[in-house]
Order: sequence, then C-alpha cells, then structure tokens
Amino acid sequence: GAADVECDVLVLGAGPGGYSAAFRAADLGLKVVIVERYATLGGVCLNVGCIPSKALLHVAAVMDEVSHMADLGVSFGAPSVDVDKLRGHKEKVIGKLTGGLAAMAKMRKVTTVRGIGTFLDPYHVQVSETTGTGTEASGGKKVVKFKHAIIAAGSQSVKLPFFPQDDRIVDSTGALALTSVPKKMLIVGGGIIGLEMGTVYSTLGARLDVVEMLDGLMQGADRDLVKVWEKMNKGRFDKIMLKTKTVGAEATPEGIKVQFEGLDGTKSEGVYDLVLQAVGRSPNGKKIGADQAGVVVTDRGFIPVDIQMRTNVPHIFAIGDIVGQPMLAHKAVHEAHVAAEVIAGTLQGNKELAAAAFNARVIPSVAYTDPEVAWVGLTEDQAKAQGIKVKKGLFPWTASGRAIANGRDEGFTKLLFDDSPEAHGHGKILGGGMVGTHAGDMIGEIALAIEMGADAVDIGKTIHPHPTLGESIGMAAEVAHGSCTDLP
Ligand code: FAD
Repeated sequence: GAADVECDVLVLGAGPGGYSAAFRAADLGLKVVIVERYATLGGVCLNVGCIPSKALLHVAAVMDEVSHMADLGVSFGAPSVDVDKLRGHKEKVIGKLTGGLAAMAKMRKVTTVRGIGTFLDPYHVQVSETTGTGTEASGGKKVVKFKHAIIAAGSQSVKLPFFPQDDRIVDSTGALALTSVPKKMLIVGGGIIGLEMGTVYSTLGARLDVVEMLDGLMQGADRDLVKVWEKMNKGRFDKIMLKTKTVGAEATPEGIKVQFEGLDGTKSEGVYDLVLQAVGRSPNGKKIGADQAGVVVTDRGFIPVDIQMRTNVPHIFAIGDIVGQPMLAHKAVHEAHVAAEVIAGTLQGNKELAAAAFNARVIPSVAYTDPEVAWVGLTEDQAKAQGIKVKKGLFPWTASGRAIANGRDEGFTKLLFDDSPEAHGHGKILGGGMVGTHAGDMIGEIALAIEMGADAVDIGKTIHPHPTLGESIGMAAEVAHGSCTDLP
C-alpha cells in the first residue's frame, strides 16, 4: 500500500545510537524519521540506564563521603532519606535530558513516529502506534517508506526463567524505579549494572548478597583494580557467592526464597526483600521483523555488520547494543555517526563521507561504583593470556598529594606499554586501568593516548596540573619509563 511518511533515513529506536544517527543524518541534510515505541527519546541510557543510575550513584557517593567526614573532624547527623523526593530528583534529571533531545530533534526537523516498528519489506516499516507512558497499543498503524534504514533497537535485560512473577523481583529498570529500600537485597550477577545498583541500595540502607557464576566480580577488569573496590566495599555485603549458580526461587510472605548451588555442588538458600536480576542484556534483533527486509540476525539476536555498520542488506545499517558487545552508550554514538555519514555520503556522492568507518582502537569501560573502576584497551590479564610482553607503570595514589588531601588514597593508576623486542624500549601504550574516585572521568585520557600511539615519554612529559588525580597518569608513565624520581 501507499506510505504515510517517506524519508531518506528511517532510524528504528531512539536510544543513544538512534538519536545520534538521526541528528547526524539531519545535520548532513537528510530527511529523517525516528520510530520509537516509548513517549520519550533517549532509549535505555537516558530513561532507565546510564543517566538515572548515575543520578542515584551521585547521591550515594555524597552520603558515603559525608559518613567518612567524622574521621576528618567534621560530623553530620545520620542521614534521613526521603525516597519519593530522591526518585523525583532522578526523574527531573531524566526529564531535562529527554526534553533536550526532543527540542534538538524539532530544531533539526527530525520527525518522530511513536510506535512499534517492524519491517514489511526492504523499503517499508510498519508502525503499530503506541500511547501513554508505556507501549500500550493505540490501534493506529502507519507505514514509513525509506531509502536507507538504521536499526538501533537496542537490548533488554535477560530474565531467569525460574523466577516467579513478583514485585519483589526486578531487573535494572525496576531497581531504578526505587519504590522503597529493602532490608535485605540479592543481586544476581556481579557485573557493573548489578554492583552499581547494589551501591545505591546499600548506601540507602539495604544489606546485600551477591551471587556470580564466574570466579570474580566485575569481569573484564584486572583483578588488582577490582581488589581495591572489594576492600572498600566488603562492608556492604553479608555474602559474596562466587562460582555459584542461582537455581530456583519461590515467593513467600517472608520474602523471596532463593536457592543456590556452588559449582562444587554445595547447596544453600537465602530469603530476600528484593532480588535484582542483572545477568546481562540480550539484543532485540529478533523482534523487528528483520527477516522481512532480508537482514540476517544471529541465533542470539545480534545483527552482524561490517566496519561501516552495514548489514548484509546494503542500504540497511545497524548500530549500538543490537550489533554486539560491549553494550555501551559511547560505542553506540560513534557507530551512529559512521552509519549516518556513510548514508549521507552515498546519497550525496560525497566520497569522503561515504568512506566513513568505525575503527576505534579501544572502547573504555567504567564501573561507577565507589571507588570507580575504569579500564581501556589491553588488560594485564589479556596480555598474559595472549603472551603479549608489556612494561607496566603503576602509580599508587598513596603517593598522590591530591588523593591524600581528599582522604581517598586507596586507588592506583596503571599503564601498560608494548615491551616486545620490536618496540626497542619505546613501546606504545596498549592499555590502562584506574581505580579510585573520579577514575571514570580520567580514563578518556588513556584512551586518547592509545588512539594517538603515545609512548611512555609522550605521556610522562605531558605536563599535568598539580595537584590533581589526573597527574597519576603522567606519573605512571614515568614509572614505566624509569624516570620517576620525585613523587608529588
Ligand atoms: P537502547 O538505548 O536500548 O535504545 C533502543 C531503543 O529502541 C529503545 O528506546 C526502544 O524502546 C526502541 N525500540 C526497540 N525496538 C523497537 C521497535 N520495534 N519499535 C520502536 N522502537 C523500538 N552504558 C554506558 O555507556 N554507560 C553507563 O553508565 C551505562 N549504564 C547503564 C546502566 C543500566 C542500568 C543499563 C541497563 C544500561 C547501562 N548502559 C550504560 C548501557 C547503555 O544504556 C546502552 O549501551 C545504550 O543504551 C545502547 O544504546 P542503543 O541506542 O543501542 O539502544
């Protein structure tokens, strides 16, 4: 049938991938339509992910900092928490940002069609219109015809099949809703999302248990970084269950009764007021009618793409969580710009734009816990596993004037340089990690150094302001280079 709307680029999903692609494409002069099932733009990241979690983590960090102040000679009373007001603050933060996105979309004349989009064929998407704050069907249908499409439909949290339907069992979205603070909380899955939410709830008063199938929390980060976080945070936990599977659960009036089984066969049980499922996220690839457009989707729901973010169908692109790990907003944004530029370049005959590609060397990861844990590029564990010879420069924050002044010198900064024979002692930086307050704000410098191919002298001779935590990056480079004589 005839299309209700026509465009150069249809963007399916308005998360960081989708809105970034739409805005870049519009800036490059294309007619853009975004299809989004929810009422606001911003996707998981703005509405139920990065941003609300950080709004709450900020409050938790201030509360924790204040509780340390007695050691420094300043005492405050016990905190009194108004959960409704706190939730209101979080919602205001989200509202500011999603409102800003809506204004930016309007300014760029990007059209938003509200509803659930599914491909009808390689050039049409059908939108089943939705209404309200959720995804209730309004009954209306629209067809959008496009020249190019960018699939940015994201991911959703994995649900364990044996958990009963119960208000006391939530995923990250439910945890962020922050309806009340439980006495006793179980976090299933010891990754970044689970530990961030655990930090918030424990600071607000909950006691935590965490259960993780693998042999350590915060997988992906080097153990020396994680150890510092563990030492500072063990007081939040009654039990840290590693190499342990969650095997069953039942809802009882006393709480959610959960069964565990260690990899060695030991069985145990716990009763919880709140259970957070944080065992990973699965891509939405199988829910968008991709097959109607001929787009290949893997068994797990990912959409394979080339470095220009092109699917197997040349005029259809995909970006963000739906194309693979790491599922991070900053990765989605960069992929979005590539897809938009390739499409604009192709439509406008601009060869330079049409040749855009995603070729980032590294993508940083941050756990916004307290202290923060941040890492980028090669880790020490990976270097060991892959037999890559590295020279390490490690700078403990016990030698950082600023960290000491802050009363937070538990952290350290670690840089890894290529130490292969071909590097002749001038190896480039391959990776780095930091643990400590504000580590996430500083890891970008190490990413830049890796992208620029810096060596230890480049970084060590770059003058960092004193006294700052960022100085520790320069000092770690000097340690690696063997020229670290005086510590600040
Ligand atoms: P999404 O943000 O998932 O957006 C996809 C959008 O598509 C959604 O709005 C969805 O409604 C819409 N959609 C899907 N299917 C359809 C359809 N058929 N029709 C219409 N619309 C559809 N990342 C970080 O980098 N830093 C962080 O600190 C961080 N914290 C996080 C905390 C939590 C609790 C969670 C859950 C995630 C966090 N992430 C973080 C991950 C980050 O949110 C994602 O990587 C990012 O949102 C992915 O962006 P995206 O554009 O691929 O998809």
